[in-house]
Amino acid sequence: LVKNSSQESLASELSSLDRKHLLHPSTNPKSQTQFGPKIIFSGGEGIHLHDMKGNTYIDGVSMLWNVNLGHGQKELADASYQQMSNIAYASTFYGYANEPTVRLAEKIASLTPGDLNTIFFTSGGSESNDTAFKLSRFYWQLQGYTEKRKIISLRRGYHGVTVAAQRATGIDAYRNFSGSTDPDIDNAKAHLTDCELGDKSHPEYEGSIRSIIEKEGKDKIAAVIVEPIQGAGGVHMPPEGYLKAVRKLCDEFDIHLIADEVICGFGRTGKMFGVDHWGIVPDFMSVAKGITSGYAQLGGVIMREHIRDTIAEYDDMLAHGFTYSGHPTACAVGLKNIEIVERDGLVENANLMGQALEKGLHHLEDKYPFLTKGRTKGLLAGFDLMEDPEANAPFDNSVKAATTLVEECYQRGLLIRPFDFEPGMNIVAIAPPLIINKDQMEKIIHILDDSLAAFSQKL
Ligand code: PLP
Repeated sequence: LVKNSSQESLASELSSLDRKHLLHPSTNPKSQTQFGPKIIFSGGEGIHLHDMKGNTYIDGVSMLWNVNLGHGQKELADASYQQMSNIAYASTFYGYANEPTVRLAEKIASLTPGDLNTIFFTSGGSESNDTAFKLSRFYWQLQGYTEKRKIISLRRGYHGVTVAAQRATGIDAYRNFSGSTDPDIDNAKAHLTDCELGDKSHPEYEGSIRSIIEKEGKDKIAAVIVEPIQGAGGVHMPPEGYLKAVRKLCDEFDIHLIADEVICGFGRTGKMFGVDHWGIVPDFMSVAKGITSGYAQLGGVIMREHIRDTIAEYDDMLAHGFTYSGHPTACAVGLKNIEIVERDGLVENANLMGQALEKGLHHLEDKYPFLTKGRTKGLLAGFDLMEDPEANAPFDNSVKAATTLVEECYQRGLLIRPFDFEPGMNIVAIAPPLIINKDQMEKIIHILDDSLAAFSQKL
């Protein structure tokens, strides 16, 4: 009891300090200031998280799709301790190197498809995408194409919040935040349709990547960026053949393909990388999140050999880099993280548990007529809530369907994520840590079932 009351007073102190001193990302600042944090986490192990009020939750989206090994992973903590004890930090600027950074670069090259063999390290996903844009443009400059600068991205793609990544993001709230602009980034309005195959009578042709290339001219376009499976845009799987068609399109017009693997990379989808499902090799691959399971801030851009070879001919300073490009602690954690993913067969587990999740979602789809479009690839899953799926009729916005269901899950100890940034959109994402077992997956389905029942009563 004593512990509880001291925990309570600590929670209340943190809450008032938070309201005054912390501006939260992707949060409503007005209600944050008024009500304080929704949950103050105090610890976790495996797929579970604890808060300061003594509640335990299942981390149903691996926090931000990144804690792939789950919480409290002591081997990662040890790797970090060992490396930090060895050296605080070592720069990779000016030609300096250190062992974990070089070893991780080599390890990643051994995992990536094709000749994606060289990495430029960053501190996260947004920096990786900005870096990919810059390296793509730089490559074309070196080849004598100084006008080849534009980047084409997709509607509902999410690529981060630095200015270039923000403008590549196809979610209006992020893309337009603060009025930042970058005239060299075009967001295609077509959404994952096969109009990239070249069918000009396709209803979405005018907003397609292909139509932008035709309009702008291939000499103005450096790269196309796509997530193999869109995450924060609402877990959208590409139609079969889509990524191959985009790869072909890029080849046809001599344009780089950047695969944003920030969520998909390192096993999330039941293969080491998202593109591995479709057998394509992009020119650049952006990674972050799962590279360290969120235990350290690390990202990177992996490039193919012809790009590296061209850049390697440049006989002056490469004027790009972050203080923490290749931070030794982050890289040591990344190495240990990949070692555990391989040792414990977590890519296979993601695949297996993904099948259990898919089965569970099908069952719920049969039981609740408003649950529709259940989709899973490994442990990246989502579904839609619609008033009448057969008539393609969405819930009225006032119902706040996705948010309400997610709140019901929260009340029952499951943290998942709603997406409702477009009128009529009510999508829920599920992406638990890759270490999840069968019983825990059943528990998730069970809580979802109870929460859907409660939601349906409210309708
Ligand atoms: N790309 C994708 C696909 C993401 O999901 C995210 C973050 O959620 C980012 C890029 C941005 O990464 P970061 O938040 O580490 O900058």
